[in-house]
Amino acid sequence: MTTANLLEFDLDGLAAFCEKLGEKKFRATQLFRWIHQRGASDFTQMTDLAKSLREKLATTARVEALSVLTQHESKDGTIKWLFDVGGGDAVEAVFIPEDDRGTLCVSSQAGCAVGCRFCSTGHQGFSRNLTTGEIVAQLWFAEHFLRKHLNRSERVISNVVMMGMGEPLQNYSALVPALRTMLDDNAYGLSRRRVTVSTSGVVPMIDRLGTDCAVAMAVSLHAPNDALRDDLVPLNRKYPIAELLEACKRYLVHAPRDFITFEYCMLDGVNDQPEHARQLIELVRTHGVSCKFNLIPFNPFPASGLLRSPQPRVLAFARTLSEAGLVTTVRKTRGDDIDAACGQLAGDVKDRTRAAERMAQRRAAVAERPVVLHPTRAKTPKTTVPQEH
Ligand code: SF4
Repeated sequence: MTTANLLEFDLDGLAAFCEKLGEKKFRATQLFRWIHQRGASDFTQMTDLAKSLREKLATTARVEALSVLTQHESKDGTIKWLFDVGGGDAVEAVFIPEDDRGTLCVSSQAGCAVGCRFCSTGHQGFSRNLTTGEIVAQLWFAEHFLRKHLNRSERVISNVVMMGMGEPLQNYSALVPALRTMLDDNAYGLSRRRVTVSTSGVVPMIDRLGTDCAVAMAVSLHAPNDALRDDLVPLNRKYPIAELLEACKRYLVHAPRDFITFEYCMLDGVNDQPEHARQLIELVRTHGVSCKFNLIPFNPFPASGLLRSPQPRVLAFARTLSEAGLVTTVRKTRGDDIDAACGQLAGDVKDRTRAAERMAQRRAAVAERPVVLHPTRAKTPKTTVPQEH
């Protein structure tokens, strides 16, 4: 008999499941706390649940974590796990400890169909969406592993960033219950300000998230004009920068923070020129989006054919933005000795959409292309990136 994996449910989903077993809603709350707050997976441990309920659960339900294939610990304390999600696919999650917080970077898909040029995951292609349970299982495992590992009884993970493998807004129906579980006081109780969804710009889903489950938002911008962004973030051909920035403004009406974080990966000779910084300033002024910039030193990998911008250029770029009144930070690289830094997550993915092949063709086509400085839109067909609507 198939049993339900209870990691798949947010509290409402668990209440509906308990109702089907003839149980009251408060039983679901107790069960939810056992699973997420105490890390229990064995129903016999859940001693304040009625024996009759524990017996029903034993035959109808399970709490199934993901198997850990590898674990790597960086000299800076960053830990990266590779989780088996079956079918030959594996995804990665990364824990980044800092003095005042512990951040877990979580994956939402096995691979990614967006195909950003500077991203290892994008070069691997796409296999499938993760389920809610597979997204939550990364947090469930990491939180309870770290408590034991660090001998702590209180919460270790204070922040979650949906910045691992995948485009979270192309896996919307699984993402939202996972976010609700992260935020639920009977589970992880994370503040909305400390849970961040990072998107390459799936405009309709940005609007939906604003009403369904507004959390902090980061947008992978990476270019100041459509011609360049079409090339670096192919989803731009479907949702160009102007539409994206207007969606950001609408999102801010609901968001727990009063700014959007724009991620900008600094690529040597591609998007890091003074003119690009000036175009960015003009762009956010024209659209009036309240924002912060996070400049990310690129972590090179051979297939990308791209290089990291020299540090003085990154700092000069940051200075130009700051002097124009835009709050700008330069991301500290963490975990690069274990390939856990931003853009390096690659897991192990069976490419079922030939996305990796298409990327290789694009790589060959753009290899000799010059730096794009002018915001003239290239005449390119719309992408066929699968969307979840
Ligand atoms: S940066 Fe994000 S959206 Fe782009 S390919 Fe990588 S995982 Fe996908």
